[in-house]
Amino acid sequence: MSNLIIRTDNLLITDPALKHEIEDVLASGFRLLRFPDFLEQFFAHSYRKLALKNMLSNAVYLVGLYVIMGIVVFVQFAGQDKGMFTWAYVITGFGLLFINVCARLPNMDKAFHWYTGVTSMVILTAIMVSATTITDPIGLAGLHAINIYVVIIIYAMSKMRFFNTVIWCHLAGLATLLISRTFDLHFTQFEFQTFFIFANVIGMGIAYIIEHRERAMFLQGLLLDIDKAEKDLLNQYLEKLSREDSLTGLANRRYFDERLKMEWHRCLREKKPLSVILLDIDYFKQYNDHYGHMAGDHCLTQISRALKKEASRPAELVGRYGGEEFILLYPNIDATQIKNTLIRIQQRILELNIPHEGSHVKKVVTASLGAATVFPVKSLDPEKLVSAADQMLYKSKENGRNGWSNTQISHCEPEQQTLINLV
Ligand code: GH3
Ligand code: MG
Ligand code: MG
Repeated sequence: MSNLIIRTDNLLITDPALKHEIEDVLASGFRLLRFPDFLEQFFAHSYRKLALKNMLSNAVYLVGLYVIMGIVVFVQFAGQDKGMFTWAYVITGFGLLFINVCARLPNMDKAFHWYTGVTSMVILTAIMVSATTITDPIGLAGLHAINIYVVIIIYAMSKMRFFNTVIWCHLAGLATLLISRTFDLHFTQFEFQTFFIFANVIGMGIAYIIEHRERAMFLQGLLLDIDKAEKDLLNQYLEKLSREDSLTGLANRRYFDERLKMEWHRCLREKKPLSVILLDIDYFKQYNDHYGHMAGDHCLTQISRALKKEASRPAELVGRYGGEEFILLYPNIDATQIKNTLIRIQQRILELNIPHEGSHVKKVVTASLGAATVFPVKSLDPEKLVSAADQMLYKSKENGRNGWSNTQISHCEPEQQTLINLV
């Protein structure tokens, strides 16, 4: 339960205290749009992916907007003075194309903020510089309006990070000022303030709100992921508890019965044999009396480990059926194969060589075994298989313990099925 693993965009966080740290960050308000380093990296990664997805899904809208703007400017105002706007329009077109191509190249993913930032700056500069070449006041007003739209689109729709956007937009302003001063273009302080700075201030507010909201959603999403991971772990843990015997870690009786039914129906469908072995430790009460209950527990775990080795194929199962009784399930194993298994199990237990002074059969721990094999048929109940194995176990006990007996309670061909009369 201690090692919590959360998968977020293929990144792994393994830290049990993570939930509280995230809650603290969420409560802090992160007004400077910065998380602690361990979270910032995750955020940067997932935000970039989100921005890319956003860019691709907005591509149609942006291209549509671009085309409409072209129609309005070049068709509706065909006779009007456009100065160098045509160039700015072409540069914008190439810029959009460039961003779209880059966004579709997986190895450009990491450079997303760079290529969107630089392209936005170039587009903005081109549009602002082109404004300096227009003398017609109506045309100029139109171009300034376009300038405002572009700034707002960059801030609100590109999903560029707030500080990145601020830097690139201000660099565009600076570049425009430099170009207009260098080439002595017509660009007044008033125009710059009214259209560019004003649009920038509004855009910055929008970008800040967007990124802040994205960050909050990211943290909440992470908390949900953690809750889910915790719940999954808890469920797995509870499920394991409900299936396992706490001392030996073997399947408990409830789970064994469940699996027995499943395998019964499978073998019934596939017309395969199903075998069960019951094992009971001989004179275990005396073992406890002689060596103590703790030693008895240790003996049970040693035996359970040995039994696990005899039920290693996927559908095979070993369970603890009672205090010192174990049960093994063998789908698709017939009576002949089960005989060999019985011999091997008995041998394994003897090889454990656990001293047992109180035993009346040997001075080491021994077990009695009973096995039953069946070709499941609808008229039989899975419990019959276990009770047949129990009868065989009883027989082994009667025969002096430390031995095995087995039986087959139905045969493979339905017409020849001879159900042995179980007394
Ligand atoms: P038999 O040879 O006929 O099987 O005799 P037995 O003594 O093995 O069988 P009996 O049913 O008389 O006693 C079973 C003993 O197993 C009694 C009980 O104290 C012990 N036992 C059951 N569960 C546990 C356990 O979890 N730990 C320990 N240490 N002993 C257990
Ligand atoms: Mg018993
Ligand atoms: Mg016993």
